Amino acid sequence: MKNLKVFLPALFFSAVLIAQQTNQANLPFKMEDLSSPKFAKAVTLSGGVCIIPLGIIEKHGPHLPLGTDLYEAREIAFTAAAKEYAVVFPPYYVGQIFEAKHQPGAIAYSTELMWKMLEETCAELSRNGLKKIILLNGHGGNTSFLQYFCQAQLAKQQDYIVVLFQPGTDQVNAAEIKSLKKANLDGHAGEEETSMMYFINPVFVDQDALKNESGLDQARLSKLPFAYTGIWWYARYPNHFASDIDTPNKRLGELLIGSDAGQVAELVRFLKKDNTIQQLQEEFFKRAGNPVGK
Ligand SMILES: [Zn+2]
Repeated sequence: MKNLKVFLPALFFSAVLIAQQTNQANLPFKMEDLSSPKFAKAVTLSGGVCIIPLGIIEKHGPHLPLGTDLYEAREIAFTAAAKEYAVVFPPYYVGQIFEAKHQPGAIAYSTELMWKMLEETCAELSRNGLKKIILLNGHGGNTSFLQYFCQAQLAKQQDYIVVLFQPGTDQVNAAEIKSLKKANLDGHAGEEETSMMYFINPVFVDQDALKNESGLDQARLSKLPFAYTGIWWYARYPNHFASDIDTPNKRLGELLIGSDAGQVAELVRFLKKDNTIQQLQEEFFKRAGNPVGK
């Protein structure tokens, strides 16, 4: 009985989660929760749209879990799919994270594996009827990789499309978000991420550990002129923490997740009814197969 206090809110939380994960057709949006027959129905209800929330397993300062990006991206996907139905892919944590290899807990797969994993995941989703794939990135270190992956979709023809969600300014909540932000420096594992994790579940934030390490910019390559180098991040933030955060703010976390989720839902809605990307791809490959036109 000593765990009752923990157990009851957990039960309530689960009930809320289950309610959020269903819709009028009573279909869960989490792919791993669908039976095989229900999955077939989900493909139809989703209009073939699948969201892959991409996280990573890496250090998040001294105070957040290794799977922070996975939690954040999936929470955004769940909130979006509850607004506009789409299938949400199971936990996906294969990505680019070489820059955290000096810190305990980073799972840094090879470039070959991260590429093949995503390529084959998309192909398998397509084979199962999910032909409109949204990459929802929760991990900053994936940015270049995912943009390149999208560019590489034009290397050879396939019967599916891949789009990378690009968040924009939330016109409705921008002022409140700005008013709630207190940190002067907010990057990896900083005020925004800590607040999102605090909103998802306060137990994820170890506030006592927050001050154990510095998240300030060490500026050890600030004299390098006109150049990019892979070691730039380590030069600036060797603790794999970029922030001067003091305390998390639950409302800020809620607004940030809600803002992204609203935009993802809008993207899902658009892709369900619009086939311009497929049509352009088909036209492109037809021309690419015979560019001279003879
Ligand atoms: Zn993160």
